[in-house]
Amino acid sequence: MYLFDTHTHFDVPEYDDRRDEFNTSAYHNGVRHLVLIGYLARYFDRMVNIKQYADTHYPIIHHLACGLHPLYIREHGDDDLIVLDNYLKSYPNIAIGEIGLDTYPNELKDEMIYEKQKHFFIEQIQFSKQYDLPILLHIRKSHADVLKILKTQKYNANNQGGIAHSFSGGENEALSFVKMGFKIGITGQITNPNAKKLRQAVKTVYDKYGISSFVIETDCPDMMPLPCQHGDNYFNEPKNLIHVINELSVLFDMDKEKLSYELWQNSNDALKTNFAYSDKMIAK
Ligand SMILES: [Zn+2]
Repeated sequence: MYLFDTHTHFDVPEYDDRRDEFNTSAYHNGVRHLVLIGYLARYFDRMVNIKQYADTHYPIIHHLACGLHPLYIREHGDDDLIVLDNYLKSYPNIAIGEIGLDTYPNELKDEMIYEKQKHFFIEQIQFSKQYDLPILLHIRKSHADVLKILKTQKYNANNQGGIAHSFSGGENEALSFVKMGFKIGITGQITNPNAKKLRQAVKTVYDKYGISSFVIETDCPDMMPLPCQHGDNYFNEPKNLIHVINELSVLFDMDKEKLSYELWQNSNDALKTNFAYSDKMIAK
């Protein structure tokens, strides 16, 4: 069984002492690819360093997705768009992420700040077209506006790929993103029986479109699956993707091996790659 972790922050310094160990255990639990996701320009270099180290030291392929995260909007300046442009030009990014809109924290609801989020979102969609890269969306309490911007920017996820990461909207919103060609990214949150809205949205999409609309992710160090929330487990890690598989296997009544294979192919679809479902790596 092989797994593709489509969204991680595995470069954060919290992992520095244990990254070797976590890579090994992820490998033994089937993880073969993971994506390092950007949030602040000043950390792009760290992502590149971890990726380059992984290329020669780890059995799991690490991919880059540089981008400016809407939650950190107050820290981004226009210079950061230039920095992002340089990283997209200079390094092999697999996607741009994570980008989008976030009005969950009160302080981000301010009109000026929200306008700035939209500006950065649009600029990064334009980069995605320039560099022909999929976008990895972060959306909290702003699904309608994200859809509106994607439409006015004529972003076509069927051609260009993309993932609505750690999906948190309702069933109709989920259907709208899938209809636009995005895959829905499912985290360890699905293991929580109280995540009723999420489970309903996932079930609705599954009933209408089948397995083809989903990818899985840990979003580590966040989104610890319920079965791992005990003892000295402080940080989620890629090996825990297995708990997402276990839960989806029950929810969709699907064999785990088949499910893993389908989700792997969906990751290829969303990221416009062609990695073989095996230990043998095939370049893009
Ligand atoms: Zn993230």
